[in-house]
Amino acid sequence: MVVTKNCNMNEYQKLLVDNKEWAEEMVGKDPDYFNRLLHIQTPSFLWIGCSDSRVPADKITGTQPGEIFVHRNIANLVINDDVNLFSVLDYAVNQLKVKHVIICGHYGCGGIQAAMSNRDYNYVLNMWLRNIKDVYRLYREELDNIPNEEKRLNMLVELNVKEQVMHLAKTSVIQRAWKNEQRPYLHGWVYSLENGLIKPVFEMNPGAHIDPLYIYDDL
Ligand SMILES: [Zn+2]
Repeated sequence: MVVTKNCNMNEYQKLLVDNKEWAEEMVGKDPDYFNRLLHIQTPSFLWIGCSDSRVPADKITGTQPGEIFVHRNIANLVINDDVNLFSVLDYAVNQLKVKHVIICGHYGCGGIQAAMSNRDYNYVLNMWLRNIKDVYRLYREELDNIPNEEKRLNMLVELNVKEQVMHLAKTSVIQRAWKNEQRPYLHGWVYSLENGLIKPVFEMNPGAHIDPLYIYDDL
C-alpha cells in the first residue's frame, strides 16, 4: 500500500507513517514475520554503543530483530553506578545468556571530543564526560605525543573502548559468568563513519587476566 506523504507533515508524524509502511512491507514479504518474532528473544550479543544516531547497532552489523540486545549512551561508557547499564548487563548475561558483549565506539565521537576540551557543558554532562577525562589521564603520555588533533581524538576513542571493556571484566556479573559458564567473550570495537567498517581493537576471553585488586574469589 502506498501512503501519501504530506510535505507539511510534522517530522514525528512521518515516523509513524514510515512505521506503518515498514510493518506492511515486512508482512508483505513474510506473512509470519511478526508472529515468529513474538516467540523469540534469544540474542547471542549484547551491544553497548554510543547514542550517536549514525551508529545503529543492527544496521551496521546486518542483524535482524531478535539477534542483538542493545544499550547505548554517550561515548559507550561502562560506569560503576549506572543502574540502567547494569540492569541491561545483568539481564543479558544471566537471563538471555549472551555469548558476547561488544562495546562499540566510533571515530570522531562527539562525546570524546567534548571530554578533550575544557568547555563547561553544565553539571550533568560534565559529570558524564569526567569519566572520559579519567581515561585520557591514564594514557596522557601516549596521547599528548600525538600532535594531530583528529588522530589524538581517534586514539582516545580506541583507548576508551579498551578501558570500558576492562570495566566490564571488573564486575562480579562478568566474573561469575566466566567462572561458571566460560562466557561471555568481551569485545572492543570502533566503527568508522567514513567507510562504515568496524575495527576490532581489544578483546578479553573468559578468564582473561585482570588486575588482582578487582578479582572476586568467593563467587
Ligand atoms: Zn559518539
